[in-house]
Amino acid sequence: MLTSLTVHALRQQLRAGDITPRDAVLAVAEAARTRDRTLGGYLPLTDSQIEEALRLADQADVSRPLGGVPIAIKDAIAVAGDRCTCASRILEGYVSPYDATAIARLRAAGAIPLGRTNMDEFAMGSSNENSAFFPARNPHDPDRTPGGSSGGSATVVAAHSAFAALGSDTGGSIRQPASFTGIVGLKPSYGRISRHGLVAFASSLEGIGPMTKSVADAALLLQAMAGHDPLDSTSLNAPVPDYLAGLEDGVRGLKIGLPREYFIDGIDPGVRAAIDTAVTRLADAGAEIVDISLPHTEFAVAVYYIVATAEASSNLARFDGIRYGHRAERPSDLNDLYSRSRAEGFGAEVKRRIILGTYVLSSGYYDAYYVKAQKVRTLIRRDFTNAFASVDLIASPVTPTTAWKLGSFSDNPLQTYLADIFTIAANLAGICGISIPCGQSNGLPVGLQLMAPPLAEPTLLRAARAAEIACP
Ligand code: GLN
Repeated sequence: MLTSLTVHALRQQLRAGDITPRDAVLAVAEAARTRDRTLGGYLPLTDSQIEEALRLADQADVSRPLGGVPIAIKDAIAVAGDRCTCASRILEGYVSPYDATAIARLRAAGAIPLGRTNMDEFAMGSSNENSAFFPARNPHDPDRTPGGSSGGSATVVAAHSAFAALGSDTGGSIRQPASFTGIVGLKPSYGRISRHGLVAFASSLEGIGPMTKSVADAALLLQAMAGHDPLDSTSLNAPVPDYLAGLEDGVRGLKIGLPREYFIDGIDPGVRAAIDTAVTRLADAGAEIVDISLPHTEFAVAVYYIVATAEASSNLARFDGIRYGHRAERPSDLNDLYSRSRAEGFGAEVKRRIILGTYVLSSGYYDAYYVKAQKVRTLIRRDFTNAFASVDLIASPVTPTTAWKLGSFSDNPLQTYLADIFTIAANLAGICGISIPCGQSNGLPVGLQLMAPPLAEPTLLRAARAAEIACP
C-alpha cells in the first residue's frame, strides 16, 4: 500500500521516478474515501479538495525537500481557499482566505496540503469526542479513542491513510494522540514554528507540530516549518539548525532525568513496564539515567485549566456571528444575534471553558485565580530550568493509561483533564517534547515522552531516534 510509506521513503520513490506526485495524491484520496470512512480521521474529503491537490501534484518539483508529498492538515490550521472549521458548528462553511505560515513554508518546500483532519472542537479535549461532527476512532481498536485534540491527524497517520500530518499542541494534543495510536508526535519549543494561521485557543501555550511515522520524518517537517515569522511576534528569532544532521549520533554522553513526580501510583502497570524497558534500553545504548525532581508537577493541571480557559475566553470572543461562520437567523437585536449565534454554534465543552475563563478573569477572582496561576506557572517553568541545569533530557510516560473506550468519560470532563498530567507542564514551560512509540500494553500502543530545553530540538530528535531504534 503506497500510503504506508514514510515521507522519506515516498520522497525516494518520487525522486527515482517510480511513482508520481499524482499517484501519491490519488492514494491518499482513495484511503480517505475507503479505509478512513469508518475511522473518521478526515473530515469528508471533497472533489474540489482532491482536484486542487492534483493541480499542485502536476506542477510539483520532486527535487525539493518535500516535493510532491501530500500532508494532512488539522482543521485548526488555515489553508488558503480551503475550509477551516476547528470541528465546530460556529465555523461551518468558513473558508480561509490565507495560508498559515507553516502551510506557506510546507508549500515552499514542495508539499501538497491534502485533507482536513478531525479534532476536538477548537482543540479542547483529549479524545476527539468533542468534535461537533463525529469522533475519530483508534485504528488499533475502533471502539477506543485515538486521543485528542489532534485525534484525526493521529488516526490518518496510524491507519496509513496519510503519509504524515500536522497537529497542534496546547496541552498535549500532538503527543497524547501520537502515544495512543503508536506514531511519532513532536511538540516543538514555543515559538519555533509560527502560530500565524493556527486558530487561537490558548496563545501562550500552543504551537503547530508534525505527526509522523518516523523520527526522521518529524525532523524533515520541522525543518521545513521552523523559523522566525514577522506575522507572529512570539515566534523565535533564532537560527534554524539542520535537524537531520545529528539524528544518528545516538545517546552516548547524554544525561536523561526521570522525574519522580511522573512515576507515580495510578500509572497503568503495562504503561509503566513499557517505559521502564525503553529507559533501560536507552541506558544500554549509552545514556546516563538519573533521578530528578520537578516539585511543582502536582499543580500543573490546575494552572493549565485556569490559564488555558482564560486565554480561550478572550480568543473565542471573535466568534460573534458577524465575522465568521454561523449566524443565528432573524435576530431581534444585536445582543440577541451575538448570544444566539454563540449558543447555537459552540458545543458544551467550549462553552464550559469560555465560562470558566470568564470567571477566572472577572474582577474579584482575577487575583485569586488568574494571577496566582501565573505565579505558579513561573514556579513550574523554574522546575524545568533547574532540572535542565544537570540533565540534557527528561523522560516520562506521555499518559498514565493507554487509549480509553469512547464514551468512558463523557459525563466527567474533570477525569479527562487529570489525564493530561504528564503533557501540560511542557506547554506551561515552553520547552520541546516528543512522543515515540515504545511498545504496547494489552495490545494498545504506549508512548515514551522525551522533553528538552527550549530550542534543543536537535538533542531531542537525536535521543528520539535512539529510542526508535531501541524500541522497534
Ligand atoms: N487535552 C488538553 C485540553 O483539553 C490539551 C488540548 C490541546 O493540546 N489542544 O485542553
